[in-house]
Parts: sequence; C-alpha cells; structure tokens
Amino acid sequence: MSIGSAVTKRLVSEIMGNQTKKTRTTIPAPMAAKALFFSDRTCCVCRVKGKSVQVHHIDDDPANNRIENFAVLCLECHTETQVSGGFRRKLDADQVILYRNDWLAIVARERASSPMRLPESSPEHDAVEIELATSIAEIYRDREEYELLASHYIQLGNDELRDKYVELAIEQGVDDSTLIFFRSVQGKAELIPQSVIERRKKTLEGRKDFFSLGRLYREIGEFRLAVEATCKGAQAAIRNGNIFSAAFHLKEMVEAESLEELFVLALDEAEREGDLWWQYRCLQELGWESEADDFLMRHRKEIEQTGEPQFLEVLTIALGDTEEYLALRKEEARSLSAKPEPGENIGK
Ligand SMILES: [Zn+2]
Repeated sequence: MSIGSAVTKRLVSEIMGNQTKKTRTTIPAPMAAKALFFSDRTCCVCRVKGKSVQVHHIDDDPANNRIENFAVLCLECHTETQVSGGFRRKLDADQVILYRNDWLAIVARERASSPMRLPESSPEHDAVEIELATSIAEIYRDREEYELLASHYIQLGNDELRDKYVELAIEQGVDDSTLIFFRSVQGKAELIPQSVIERRKKTLEGRKDFFSLGRLYREIGEFRLAVEATCKGAQAAIRNGNIFSAAFHLKEMVEAESLEELFVLALDEAEREGDLWWQYRCLQELGWESEADDFLMRHRKEIEQTGEPQFLEVLTIALGDTEEYLALRKEEARSLSAKPEPGENIGK
C-alpha cells in the first residue's frame, strides 16, 4: 500500500468512525442484530467473510429505521457508496439493494440447508433434531416458503420432498442463483436454461466475485474452471489480507470433491494420450484401488515390456509376487547408490 492510500484509508476510517458512532445510536440494537443475522455478518457487496461490518442506511437517512433500508457493509464497500470521482464508481442505492437482496437469499438458503448444529455427542441429539426438523418444516409450510422447504429437505437428505418443493419453488419464482443451486443438487444441471447460466456468469464476472463464480462452475460440472476461479479468488483474498475468506472457500472447494474431479479429467487426458503410467497414478490418487489393480492386470504385458522399475514394482505387488518385488527393490537400492558394486572394477 502506498503512503498516499494509507493516509486516505485512515482519513476515511476517521470520518467513518464518527459516522458509525452516530449510526450506532440511531439503529435500535435488536434491529441491527436482525440485519446482521440475515446477512451472516458479512458485507453484502464484497461478501468477504471474516471482515468487520456495520449496518448502514441505504437511503442515507438515519431516521429511516425500517429493515428494508438496512444493508450490512464493510468499511471499504461503504466508502464506495459515499465517494465518487477519480476512477471510483459510486455504488448507488439501487445497486446496494440488488446486492443485498441477492446476498440475503443466498444466506437464507445456506442456513436452511446447513447441517444440524447440535453435536452428535449430545445425548438428546436424535430427539431434538427430529423435533426441530418437523417444526421447521411446519413453519415454512404454513408460510408457503417453498424455497426454504426445498433447502430444508436437501439438508435432511429427503430427495422426494426436496424435488416436490423445488418444483413448487420454481413455480413461485426463484432467482438465477437459486435455480442453478436447486438443479445442481438434484443432479439435473441440464435443465438449467443456458441463458440463466450466461446471465449469472456475466453478473459474477462483472463483480469479480471469483468465489461465487467457482461455485457456479462446480454446480454446472465445469470443474477445471471452478478450481481456476476459486484459486483466483483465494489469491486475491490473501493479497488483501482476507485470510478467513481464502481458507473458507478453498476448504469448501476441496470438500466439494473438486480435486477428485480434476484427477478424473487428468485420467481422461492420460487415456487419450495412451499414457499408462499417468492413468495408473490418477486411479491411485482417486483411491480407486480395485480399478487400479484391474488396470495393472489388463495392461500387464505392456507394463512388462516397458521395463520401468516403478511400474514393474506396483505390478508385482498387484500380482502378489513377493519374490520379484524383493528383487526389484534391491535393484532399486543399487541403482540409487552412485558407488560402484563392491569388487567391481571401473575406470579400466
Ligand atoms: Zn465489502
């Protein structure tokens, strides 16, 4: 950071600090708490997790304390709503509302589909979870909240009710990100209109929201692009000091088995190139042991012909040929040593 921008940042934070004090006294605490809860304590514009945030009045009127007038923003994004000029593009109230509504929908969906929160070690775990699942479903059903019901049944792993409420929610009308999410969970990504995918991609690219873009690509089964986007987001997050955000999204990416999907892609590529060794290594990394053994058996002749010690070694293990395995390992030890065989006469 240049000295100039450090000074600007401090000035802005001083001005903002004063404003914040004023704002804090004007927003009743329970309302601020509600706004923070609905936003998952995360700025609705940059959505960087782990960053300090405050509740702001969208219309800049500190007396307008209706919940629709609240947006949870971080300091930097709030500055974007106040400052314009230079290269800055001022974020106007309408844009903030768009960001806010999109984000609140995502948070609500994630909460409804997040795993049970009571530790499994708790003695009442099962009884409490059953009661909760039933009453939550009732609350949503009474209110015809089909989108939340669909997410609820996704979390419970009830595919039949999930599908029922996904269809009802889509009939009710859902936004692009919700439609993509539902169809992907159903394993029916092919039902997402291409125009919806393109529109969502464009929105996220415009916002440089690489983490959401990574998720989108995962949802539509584009794993190469998914990993690329998520890593790009993580790189930027680390550079900006947003470590929690980087860690969170990388973890999510790994848990979504994106790396397995990459190995599958690498396997396809090695197969196209007829490269036996790297096909075998992909199967190994994927943990597909019986497939890996089958592969070795099927290609036994070719592997023996290559005479590659590494390859021969795994083959002898798969064949259960302990004697040959021992011989290969001894040969390997000899070849790793740069020294001549004892008694061998070299040089002349
Ligand atoms: Zn922000």
